[in-house]
Amino acid sequence: GAARVVVIGGGFGGAACARALKRSETTLQVTLVEPNRTFTACPFSNEVIAGLREIEAQQFGYEKIASDGVSVIAQAATAIDPQARRVTLADGSSLSYDRLVLSPGVDFHFDGLPGYDEAASQKMPHAWTAGEQTLLLRRQLEAMEDGGVVAIAVPANPSRCPPAPYERASLIAHYLKANKPRSKVLILDAKDNFTQQKLFEKAWAELYGGMIERVSLSQGGRVTSVDPASNTVITEFGNYTPQVANVIPPQRAGRIAAIAGAADTTGWCPIDPMTFESRLMPSIHVIGDACLGGGIPKSASAASAQGKACANAIVNLIAGRAPETPRLTGVCYNTVAPAYGFSLAGNYQPKGDIFAEVEGGATSPLDAPPERRAREAADAERWFQTITAATFG
Ligand code: FAD
Repeated sequence: GAARVVVIGGGFGGAACARALKRSETTLQVTLVEPNRTFTACPFSNEVIAGLREIEAQQFGYEKIASDGVSVIAQAATAIDPQARRVTLADGSSLSYDRLVLSPGVDFHFDGLPGYDEAASQKMPHAWTAGEQTLLLRRQLEAMEDGGVVAIAVPANPSRCPPAPYERASLIAHYLKANKPRSKVLILDAKDNFTQQKLFEKAWAELYGGMIERVSLSQGGRVTSVDPASNTVITEFGNYTPQVANVIPPQRAGRIAAIAGAADTTGWCPIDPMTFESRLMPSIHVIGDACLGGGIPKSASAASAQGKACANAIVNLIAGRAPETPRLTGVCYNTVAPAYGFSLAGNYQPKGDIFAEVEGGATSPLDAPPERRAREAADAERWFQTITAATFG
């Protein structure tokens, strides 16, 4: 019969992969397993937190993917038997596969942050998955009195979307400047340096002079535990009790990856970058945030590019053809205020067990006229429209 490919996770990686599989080889039986009937996208969710956008603009359904001929099952995958090549779903039913693709995104590594767990996230939202958490953080900002402190706890890398905490700090400062100008943003950081740091710091000085303070790793900024009862954030340097605590915990691959045996002791999934096949489990491919991608930042643009390249590799493997070397491109936009954006574009190719950056990348200049920043902010919106239309539209 026709070869069967099951894709777990209908986010940027999995949805792109399922669609590309079906489009390039119509005889494949492609099944997409995703518990949510509506996907809520993280890119641009920082704008929702800052009141610049509504959550509905982040939400997408699976109807178009289903009408492409992908069978979409609204269930969570709960178990995987790699020997029998079988996936068990939450309702107890099961699916057999010839090839399995995992794109479950991230899970939170609560053991890495004492005091923080699912219950704590209802008080100290992470807003690192989009939806209720995004809205909770927004409501907390709206309810805060002028003069309050908003703390953002930033984990070490690897984590989902390395620039996003700083974009968030910027957009929260934008909201506070307009609505609660005596307030401050305090970034408690488990890193010394971060991506596009000079561009961010220049923008902060230009737009939000003095409103954003950052305590780096060397300055004792790493958050070591939290106490949700008193809204206290404990760092290597001291304790803070901010009015709003946005605690972004350390992360690892979505739980199903570990259940499948595809995650190593780092919590992430080593792959062969030529095919995205797991180094630990044959016939299981891992894409998106969950995989150890090396030089590729964990982003929606990377997950989408990986999804398409993985689909291509699987079609070749099933047909008995040699894999083609994937060449991935990704671009990350940061919007620090309306009409003020900058970006980082990169190209990546397999090198040993990871992807390495190759030439052709570009970053926005440190000195640029306002028109350039405005154009990049508009490019960012266009990027979002394009990627979501290609994935879900
Ligand atoms: P996801 O998109 O998270 O999809 C994973 C899916 O798997 C989910 O729908 C989940 O329900 C499903 N799933 C999990 N477990 C199971 C299971 N057991 N069974 C079935 N389904 C399961 N990236 C950019 O490129 N540009 C940006 O501007 C940008 N901004 C960001 C801002 C913020 C605040 C954040 C947090 C992230 C941002 N990102 C951005 C990063 C981007 O959201 C992620 O890198 C991207 O979503 C990764 O895609 P993925 O397919 O790996 O995971």
